Amino acid sequence: MKVIAVGRNYIDHAKELNNPVPETPVIFMKPDTALLKDNKDFYYPEFSQDVHYEVELVFRICNEGKHVLPKFAHKYIDAIGLGIDFTARDIQSTHKEKGLPWELAKSFDNSAVISPLFPKGEFPDLKNIAFSLQKNGETVQSGNTKDMIFDIDSLIVFISKYITLRKGDLIYTGTPVGVGPIAVGDKFEGFINEKPVFTCHIK
Ligand code: MG
Repeated sequence: MKVIAVGRNYIDHAKELNNPVPETPVIFMKPDTALLKDNKDFYYPEFSQDVHYEVELVFRICNEGKHVLPKFAHKYIDAIGLGIDFTARDIQSTHKEKGLPWELAKSFDNSAVISPLFPKGEFPDLKNIAFSLQKNGETVQSGNTKDMIFDIDSLIVFISKYITLRKGDLIYTGTPVGVGPIAVGDKFEGFINEKPVFTCHIK
């Protein structure tokens, strides 16, 4: 399986990093070795001094899809979870300046926290799912799918023009405003519609 992630999918977050609001989705990928499941601890990597959290809703693909048409896009997801897209912001900044790819900043081991995945049927309206992240008991990010620049159907249509989607692939759909640095000792907790879905300690 593969993890496909979306950058700058919420206007307020694009602005906080001084990025332009994109006209088409900004896409990058993480390998399966990036996944951090089952509330496991995250160990601060030695190659960065500025790892940031980015909480994101995650959609699981359930069918093989290439050139998916908009009217069928909803048939390609069957479950929803919440994750963190850990980002080595210092590496990303220098690579962005040089016009280099982001992989070392985004795709390192354990950089993709993932909660359990919940059946899509548990969500009455995919365009109105609230989610949030607490850091040491205080809410630092909260978002809602209704504020996405590109909704999940549009993302499936766009991505599948370039990359075949396969059963089990995960799409991280971008982060709302409020990203920030992590530190050893921090505790992060993710919520979907107020329900706690993951915990991650930074070691
Ligand atoms: Mg992200």
